[in-house]
Amino acid sequence: MRRVDNFNAGPSALPLPALERAQSELCDFEGTGMSIIEHSHRGKAYEKVHFEAIALLKELCGLGDDRVVLFVQGGASQVFATLPMNFLHAGKRADYVITGGWSEKALEETKFFGEARAAITTAGSHVGTPGPEGMQKFTRVPRGAELDVLDPDAAYVHLTSNNTLFGTQYAEIPATKAPLVIDMSSDIMCKPVDFSKISMVYAGAQKNIGPSGVTILILDKAFLATAREDIPTIFRYGTFAKNDSLYNTPPTFGIYLMRNVLAHTLSIGGLEAVEATNRKKADRLYGALDALSDFYSAPVEKESRSTMNIVWKTKSADLDKKFVEEATKKDMVGLAGHRSTGGIRASIYNAVSFESVDRLATFLEDFAKTNA
Ligand code: PMP
Repeated sequence: MRRVDNFNAGPSALPLPALERAQSELCDFEGTGMSIIEHSHRGKAYEKVHFEAIALLKELCGLGDDRVVLFVQGGASQVFATLPMNFLHAGKRADYVITGGWSEKALEETKFFGEARAAITTAGSHVGTPGPEGMQKFTRVPRGAELDVLDPDAAYVHLTSNNTLFGTQYAEIPATKAPLVIDMSSDIMCKPVDFSKISMVYAGAQKNIGPSGVTILILDKAFLATAREDIPTIFRYGTFAKNDSLYNTPPTFGIYLMRNVLAHTLSIGGLEAVEATNRKKADRLYGALDALSDFYSAPVEKESRSTMNIVWKTKSADLDKKFVEEATKKDMVGLAGHRSTGGIRASIYNAVSFESVDRLATFLEDFAKTNA
C-alpha cells in the first residue's frame, strides 16, 4: 500500500487505523450481512454508531450535560447562514471578528437576517512587502484589550479560532461578555479547550475528525433555548436537538467514519496526547523556518502562529512553485498555498504524523541549501 505525506488543507489526512477499520467492516458490518451504508438510519446497527459518535465527541471534549452535540449537513458555509437565522434577533446586533476570508464570508451571510458588524479586523496588519492581497494580509489575531470594542449586549460574538488560509490561530480562546460563537472548522479537537465559555462551536468534520459531509455543532443548551422558532424546520438547530440529529436522514457513512476517527483518538490518549504531538510537529516546522529566515519568510506573528496550517514563502513565486513540485516528487503532497494567497502551506492536522512533518522540515532545509 502506498501512503503519501498528506499536507492537504481539507479534506485531508485521516488516521490509517480509522480507514482500515472501515475497510475491514465495509461489506459486512458486525455480521449483519450488509455495509453500514446500506443500513436504515432508524435501525439498531446505525443508531448504535450514531450515539457512540456523539458520546465519544462529548467524552473527548469533556462536555457536560449542559452541552448538546449536533450533526448537520451543508458544511460550515451553511452555518454561516443558519447561525444568524437562528440567533440574530430583531433589535440585537451581532459582532464579527474578521481575521480572514472565512470570517468575511460568515459576516456576509448575516445581511439576510439582521444587523451585524465587523467589530474588529486584522486585515491592516501587513508585514514585509505590503500587498493588497496575499498571505501578508491577515498576519495576527486580535486579543486582550483589542477585544474591548466588542459589544457586551451583542446577540453573539463570532470568531474563527484558526484561519486556514492565513495560518493564524488563537492560542487561547478569549472570554467575551456576549455569547461566543466559534468557527472551529480547521482546529476542532487539536487540543483540549474549555467549552464552558463558548456558547456555540461549529466545524466541518473534514480536517481533524472525519470526511466531508458532516458538520458538527456543539451548543450550550441555555443558548440554544434562545434560538428563533420562526424559521424553516430544517434550519432550526432545535429540530436537530429534539431529534438527536435524526430528524431526517443524516450522512450515515460520514458519521460512521467520524466515529472511527474519534475512537482512534481516544485510544491514543485523547486530546492531551493529540496536543503534545501537534506542538512537537509545529515546533519542528517553525523551528526550521526560523533558522532559515534569510531564505524563507513566515509572515504570521509568533503569538498568532497556527499549529494546524503553516504558511511561508521563498523569495519568488517561481521558487515557491519549484518547492511544491520537488516536494510532490518526494510524495509530499498538498503544499501549494491557497489560490487567494499563493506561497506554500503545510496543513498538519491531527492525523499528520510527526514523521511526515520531520520529512518536510528536512526537505525544506535541503531545498534552502541547494537553491540559496
Ligand atoms: N471555516 C473555515 C475556518 C474553513 O477552513 C472552511 C473550509 N476550509 C470553512 C469555514 C468552510 O467549510 P465548508 O467547506 O465545510 O463549508
